[in-house]
Amino acid sequence: MKNPLALIASAAVLSTASLGLHAQDFPAGKPITIVVPFAAGGPTDRVARDLAEAMRKPLDGTSIVIDNAAGAGSTIGNAKVARAKADGYTLLLTHVGMATTPVLYRKLPYNYETDFEYLGMINDVPMTVIGKPQLEATNFRELREWVAKNAGKTNLGNAGIGSASHLCGLLLQSELKAEMTTVPYKGTAPAIADLLGGQIDLLCDQTTNTTGQIEARKVKPYAVTTLKRLSTPALKDLPTLDESGLKNFQVTIWHGLYAPKGTPAPVLKKINDALKVALKDPEFVKKEEGLGAVVVADGRVEPAEHKKFVQAEVARFGPVIKAAGVYAD
Ligand code: ASP
Repeated sequence: MKNPLALIASAAVLSTASLGLHAQDFPAGKPITIVVPFAAGGPTDRVARDLAEAMRKPLDGTSIVIDNAAGAGSTIGNAKVARAKADGYTLLLTHVGMATTPVLYRKLPYNYETDFEYLGMINDVPMTVIGKPQLEATNFRELREWVAKNAGKTNLGNAGIGSASHLCGLLLQSELKAEMTTVPYKGTAPAIADLLGGQIDLLCDQTTNTTGQIEARKVKPYAVTTLKRLSTPALKDLPTLDESGLKNFQVTIWHGLYAPKGTPAPVLKKINDALKVALKDPEFVKKEEGLGAVVVADGRVEPAEHKKFVQAEVARFGPVIKAAGVYAD
């Protein structure tokens, strides 16, 4: 009979070896899932699908599938990835919510600093204030008057507490000193559908979701949330909120890629390398720019810089959110 201790030792060697081989072989023909914590058809979903397309080639043609784990302002999807197997086959693509939810939620089922591997940032995206097609206001000044007259009756959609639309809406309400009824959705794809149907009045959403609707004149565009007007042809005539009377109003959001904590370093390196290739893919860059987004081309494509940036965003949004006095359990 073999020595049981020797058996245990050889099993340990084997499993380490197979783990090493596995990390080395990644992605080994197995599909990768990118969890998007918002509804399909919205702006986060769109960047994930376009990025997946661009990352496929540098990851040896591996298929990358999107899993829309939407709800609770991105915290459901974030938690799903924090608990997923740390093998590189489950990733998270999310936005500024990574930095707003730690401030907004009293309890979160994950820790944004210790439960994730940061893989690099993807883009910076401005937002736009848009209204339902039935609104008579033709510019932001008229919209302001309409909101004042309809105090308490204006419905403002968002993608849940901690979402970009929620953050933008909070700032907008505080600047306008107007109380609005907020209507949460699982993403801004369903919110925009209700805006088109006139069920809600206003929405603040990423240009990557609104440019097409603005171009097709299906919604009323009022302003962009950058300090300078955008150069994107479809959006270049849209005034800024700053020039429309809300001095220094600025909200630009961003997207980043994450893996569960403990994903092996060689796997993280392969994904980060593929991300960097994708961010230079001319097709991907063209799509993003056409929708008013700017693809990240600075140090934030590196994991350490990405994490530092998110920590700085938590520090930046903390006081703003605290001043607004909004919390979720
Ligand atoms: N645009 C959404 C937000 O407001 C997210 C989404 O639907 O992708 O955060």
